[in-house]
Amino acid sequence: MTDNNNSGIKKKIIDGRLIAKEIESSLSGKIAELKNKGVVPSINVILVGDNPASVIYVRNKERAAARCGILSKKDIYPQTIREEELLNKIEALNNDPLVHGILVQLPLPSHIDERTVMEAISPSKDVDGFHPMNVGKIFTESPPFYPCTPYGIIKMLVHYGISVKGKNCVIIGQSNIVGKPLAVMLMNRLAAVVSLNIYTKDIKSFTRKADVLISAAGKARLIDESFIKEGAVIIDVGISNIGGKICGDVNFESVINKVAGITPVPGGVGPVTVAVLMENTVKSAIIKSGINIKYKI
Ligand code: NAD
Repeated sequence: MTDNNNSGIKKKIIDGRLIAKEIESSLSGKIAELKNKGVVPSINVILVGDNPASVIYVRNKERAAARCGILSKKDIYPQTIREEELLNKIEALNNDPLVHGILVQLPLPSHIDERTVMEAISPSKDVDGFHPMNVGKIFTESPPFYPCTPYGIIKMLVHYGISVKGKNCVIIGQSNIVGKPLAVMLMNRLAAVVSLNIYTKDIKSFTRKADVLISAAGKARLIDESFIKEGAVIIDVGISNIGGKICGDVNFESVINKVAGITPVPGGVGPVTVAVLMENTVKSAIIKSGINIKYKI
């Protein structure tokens, strides 16, 4: 590949690592101010079992917290933990004034009801933004915490000056943690939003009309150039492990000449998601401490 080609590709990359760094830097002043007043922002992560992907995600969150100066504590429980016991642990964290954020790493073992667990976390410490009270408040744009991945995607679009107002935004995947909240956030920004799922017939007929295509299917290399229109922006949320290599839903090489912008995997949505989690934790510490620090999140 020539240097010209390389710089052309570089210009199209929506760089998640860069945005994550900026978000983390923007927190440092607020964290210092909190610490000056005796408040150390803290997040408590609960990991059940040893799902290898979950272990990596939790490690990434711990590393980000350490970089930011946020205290992170990890509680690891065996796969066999009973739901009631887990709920009791969450209740103890809800009542601990030194804990500002609680995150239960998903997925949970099948004998534990994820919805019950999510609802057990106090909405005021729900830094993942999954509690139904916080999810519902997305409609009125007033939750204390927006869910990290969809909000991270909005931040990426804003950072690169990509307005969605009046644009066709197509989302592949309608999970509660990515697709559905993102659809509402894009509607709040006056986009025309189409939500697709595994049962949608002829998804290309929708994706080819997308100005902004967000893929959160978790199907490696699902999207090639035949799915997209010239000049589209592609946000690839998917994470698949193919033979030890992490890849997204999008076949990067196939689409790169056709797109105006694209998030790489790795180095796209993932780091921004973690940075937003840190931001939510700091916001929680500010709100809970009652210290007058301005934040715009
Ligand atoms: P999920 O399994 O809960 O939902 C997947 C959705 O995609 C479903 O709505 C399903 O109907 C739809 N889907 C699957 N295959 C499809 C197809 N061929 N055509 C149309 N729709 C299809 O997944 P999730 O929790 O939302 O995660 C999705 C992907 O995003 C996974 O790979 C996950 O690892 C990744 N993820 C990444 C981040 C990040 O920070 N980068 C965060 C969350 C999830």
